[in-house]
Amino acid sequence: MKEKVGFIGLGIMGQGMAHNILKAGFPLTVWNRTAARMAPLVGAGAAAARSPADCAAQTTIIITCVSDTPDVKQVILGENGVIYAAAPGSLVIDMSTISPQVTQQVAAALAAKGVQMLDAPISGGSEGAAKGTLSIMVGGEASQVERARPVLQAMGQKITHVGGAGAGQMVKLVNQIVVVGTMLAVAEGLLFAQAGELDLDKTIEAIAGGAAGSWMLSNRGTQAIADDWRPGFTIDLQQKDLKLVLEAAASLGIPLLGTSLIHNLYRTLQARGLGQEGNHALLKALEYLAGRRGGD
Ligand code: NAP
Repeated sequence: MKEKVGFIGLGIMGQGMAHNILKAGFPLTVWNRTAARMAPLVGAGAAAARSPADCAAQTTIIITCVSDTPDVKQVILGENGVIYAAAPGSLVIDMSTISPQVTQQVAAALAAKGVQMLDAPISGGSEGAAKGTLSIMVGGEASQVERARPVLQAMGQKITHVGGAGAGQMVKLVNQIVVVGTMLAVAEGLLFAQAGELDLDKTIEAIAGGAAGSWMLSNRGTQAIADDWRPGFTIDLQQKDLKLVLEAAASLGIPLLGTSLIHNLYRTLQARGLGQEGNHALLKALEYLAGRRGGD
């Protein structure tokens, strides 16, 4: 039986992911809080639902990709939420980045209704979402991961089952620690290169293929030197993830010195009203500190 897929949350990531599910040939029903964002998908052949519950009622696999922990609770457990209409035996896949603990609570609430859940957060940016090349880290039961695999393969290149419920979100937090640490290193390197009056394009070209190469350098470093601060991933969402990381580290009793520092650097950008810029604007925080950038 071909699964009927529902997709809730057509933001920067959800748009590309939902389009790729359609392209893979799955019947698709979509719902987005701001209804206008459903239009491109409907134009491409998807059906529009009236609510998350309506979306769940029409489908067997329901994907959510919304902003934050309370938003996932809202669309799954809240008024007109997925839980009120999902048939027993159906599967919810949450691809947002949210609290691992709350993920386990939502999975338990769904399980009480006979509905399965996987946490399957993503990495690879808006580019990866559009191209279908995301990395997907999956927590939950192995049999459900296998059931979900064809749908996940429509969106991602690397699908890794990392453990039970909540484990996908924990691995995603590891991903975020590495992402922002890399971003800080890229930003410091570029600040140094600017101050040394180097050709910034040549600098990136020279180092991208060596040991300093990274996705952040090639994608976001090049955007930063072009003075292009449009978000692949906004600073506000980045901060949401770093808060999740630091809360989890506190409950594990471990120090995360670098991540705390970067969280505070991003806070200075939020205080300047730049929370909707891309996370590569970390370079700006260093430029302000160095006296190399005036007020925005
Ligand atoms: P985004 O562009 O801001 O989109 C957020 C989506 O969530 C929108 O569809 C929004 O609906 C919906 N939403 C938020 N709160 C809601 C609520 N209470 N009820 C219903 N819908 C709600 O964000 P994004 O960049 O696509 O990110 C989505 C998730 O993927 C986040 O958890 C993020 O951390 C994660 N992620 C993002 C990236 C990236 O590079 N962008 C990479 C990996 C993971 P409206 O249209 O009505 O606002």
